[in-house]
Amino acid sequence: MHKDIATPARTKAILDKYGFSFKKSLGQNFLIDTNILRRIVDHADITEESGAIEIGPGIGALTEQLARRSKKVLAFEIDQRLLPILEETLSPYPHVSIINEDVLKADVKTAIEREFEGFDDIMVVANLPYYVTTPIIMKLLEDKLPIRGIVCMLQKEVADRISARPGTKEYGSLSIAVQYYTEAETAMIVPKTVFVPQPNVDSAVIKLTKRTEPAVAVKSESFFFQVTKASFAQRRKTLLNNLTSQLPEGKQKKEKILSALEQANVEPGRRGETLSIEEFARLSDALLPYFS
Ligand code: SAM
Repeated sequence: MHKDIATPARTKAILDKYGFSFKKSLGQNFLIDTNILRRIVDHADITEESGAIEIGPGIGALTEQLARRSKKVLAFEIDQRLLPILEETLSPYPHVSIINEDVLKADVKTAIEREFEGFDDIMVVANLPYYVTTPIIMKLLEDKLPIRGIVCMLQKEVADRISARPGTKEYGSLSIAVQYYTEAETAMIVPKTVFVPQPNVDSAVIKLTKRTEPAVAVKSESFFFQVTKASFAQRRKTLLNNLTSQLPEGKQKKEKILSALEQANVEPGRRGETLSIEEFARLSDALLPYFS
């Protein structure tokens, strides 16, 4: 086996050799603890037959662990300066492909079709750049990619919001958006000391397992998400207040909103954070005829 990339000494040697300076604006906090990396990969349940997609390989710390345990790795890295480094660090692993692109702009679906033909199991595994955690997760879910799920490191605060249950202060439109597509659980809390440079916030690893069908059946997905966003616009306001102020022409349609709430069996004086995902589905289906 080759020497691990992610030891503090080897990471420093690689960074020094290439004169690499971290770009805070790209969320560059590299992992320097092989034990944590192996545990992240454990949570992904991948096998020698699996394909792995990584967002932001950095100098290849996680990529290497994925390469050792999967059939193929495809990684998207935005920072061109890392390409020659990755070429060197990942040279023992020819089944790794790096795409030098912003993952938010990339056509991930086409890349998967090209790189993972005939694969039955594909997992996204990443230590995400924290400045774009939510857009990346939402893109991967909304693009309806043929993946089993996502295991990723992110800010603990975002992990808490993603896996939150109704009635908690963390529960909001992000919880609903992610739980609509996946079963979400926090897999582990990670100390700041395993990164270089250390981030300012606490971190966690979450595991998102895609559902075969969305958590609820709704007549219009986009309207369902519009209603959930509107319901949490001002957390201290009631549902009725948020819906009338946020939905298009909501004020004029107050009576209609009230009758939809009644039809969905949801009290207008409740707050968004108390509604289950099923109640949001009923409510959005009842509101839809008045807003289409
Ligand atoms: N995987 C490495 C590790 O664990 O040590 C690096 C993780 S670091 C938190 C995030 C990585 O994502 C960096 O390499 C950064 O350059 C890259 N990155 C930032 N924004 C990106 C984007 N929009 N698309 C692709 N990669 C991005």
